[in-house]
Amino acid sequence: MERKNLWAPWRIKYIQGLSDSSKTGCFICHNQESPQDDDKNLVLWRTKKSIVIINRFPYNNGHLLIAPVRHIGELDQATDEELLEMIKLDGDTNFMSVCSDTKVISQSLTELLEQLKQVSKEHNLPGL
Ligand SMILES: [Zn+2]
Repeated sequence: MERKNLWAPWRIKYIQGLSDSSKTGCFICHNQESPQDDDKNLVLWRTKKSIVIINRFPYNNGHLLIAPVRHIGELDQATDEELLEMIKLDGDTNFMSVCSDTKVISQSLTELLEQLKQVSKEHNLPGL
């Protein structure tokens, strides 16, 4: 399989931020402790054991991060209850597009058409 390059210049802010000493700590824990900033931090859902955050540097449109509320570094440190909850929150996209040169399309064309027609109607598009 031939390796392809994906040009994603928006990710450089994330990469450079990893070495920024003013941003030490865990952003998930930070977001967990700041519910008043959920919109700013792109927090979508909070559940008993998990937090769901929109990835600021997505591989895919709608790339969500699903993490346990409890700070752990490895998945095998999660309890069965945490794992079950995170699995139940998981969507139908994954790392396939990153690791196996396969793109998962999560929406039917007819559903997309209906969604685009609705948005077009709401925004009076095309405005020609
Ligand atoms: Zn943490």
